Amino acid sequence: MQADCANCFGLCCVALSFARSADFAVSKPAGQPCSNLQQDFRCGIHTQLRDEGYPGCTVFDCFGAGQKVSQVTFGGTDWRQAPRTARSMFEVFPVMRQLHELLWYATEALDLAPARPVHEELRTALAHLDGLTRADAESIVQLDVNALRGEVNTLLLRASELVRARVPGRRKNHRGADLIGAKLSGADLRGASLRGALLVAADLGGADLRDADLIGADLRDADLRGADLRGADLTGALFLTQAQLNAARGDAATVLPPALSRPAHW
Ligand code: SF4
Repeated sequence: MQADCANCFGLCCVALSFARSADFAVSKPAGQPCSNLQQDFRCGIHTQLRDEGYPGCTVFDCFGAGQKVSQVTFGGTDWRQAPRTARSMFEVFPVMRQLHELLWYATEALDLAPARPVHEELRTALAHLDGLTRADAESIVQLDVNALRGEVNTLLLRASELVRARVPGRRKNHRGADLIGAKLSGADLRGASLRGALLVAADLGGADLRDADLIGADLRDADLRGADLRGADLTGALFLTQAQLNAARGDAATVLPPALSRPAHW
């Protein structure tokens, strides 16, 4: 479930639309290749994305959907070679990305020992999702992804509660909270629920976020510096993705879960 751009036909740079903003220097519609995409499907400005006005590209993660669509759904035939199937490929990609995102979360939940009571259901869900990702293009675009998200999220929520129940003391519940610009420097958020919380431009410097559930939390910032995680402790943080980290601001003192890496711009 990690992006393998060498085996992808640059799908995130073609299939998706983006609007000129602080995230992207230009606008482009879905299905049109980005002008920076090279013939070999690599980005011509990969090492200068932030400097060239494309920081939005650095916080996108396909969770491995790109290579699945390129190599499995379409058997290694790219959209330049087969323009007749290009539209179908571009429609499948955003659906596949959501399926792979769910696979990522379900896999993480299976690694959480305290969540053992829901592991059997998670394994069943994982097998079902994996099967769906291997269906033909027409079947994939017809999937009710929202329903699938709801089913998997129920299991993820239970897994989260089982893990966080082991954290001593009162656990804060900021699920879906508007914490834009909140001053949470040094806050005790151990085992807190920050599911879907708006933490845009929040100051979380030095905060204790051990075992906090950060699924879907927005850690961006309008001025692109990102929520401040400098010196924060994210040991055991649940359902935190690399894309969320890439959008935030941290430093050498930020403690990360082992599966994630320190963004190059920190
Ligand atoms: S700038 Fe590079 S990474 Fe971003 S969409 Fe264009 S080709 Fe892709």
